[in-house]
Amino acid sequence: MASKILYIEDNPYAVQLVRDVMEIYGYELIEAYDGLTGVAVAARERPDLILMDINLPGIDGLEATSRLKASPELSYIPVIAVTANTSYGDRQRCIEAGCDGYVPKPVSIRDLMDTVRAFLVGIPSDTKTASPAPSSASASAFSAQK
Ligand code: MN
Repeated sequence: MASKILYIEDNPYAVQLVRDVMEIYGYELIEAYDGLTGVAVAARERPDLILMDINLPGIDGLEATSRLKASPELSYIPVIAVTANTSYGDRQRCIEAGCDGYVPKPVSIRDLMDTVRAFLVGIPSDTKTASPAPSSASASAFSAQK
């Protein structure tokens, strides 16, 4: 059975790109476009992994992650922040909110997939300590901030 990934993201271009990539790699992608819906979909669908935009309508990705990690039934799900918030301290704020990994926008597809696969097979990822500098192999569709 294909691993199920939930992408919580309000930018339709980013969603489209990740949808295409996940299809190529054989993952099932489900989507939510705001933080509250994302938390609800996570509770209902129990995805294997969550990709979390941070700048979201309603509650932001940090608050959504905090709520997921506060739930005994959902806290086991790895949450990877996928965000244009790459200023000093942003990675630390993501980790403190409970994110297990961090992929900066503009997203490198290779970095994204390396991170996703590392979490899905239970291999510890080095994304918490890696440099937030985006790879040169960036997808332009991720350049938008929102
Ligand atoms: Mn956004």
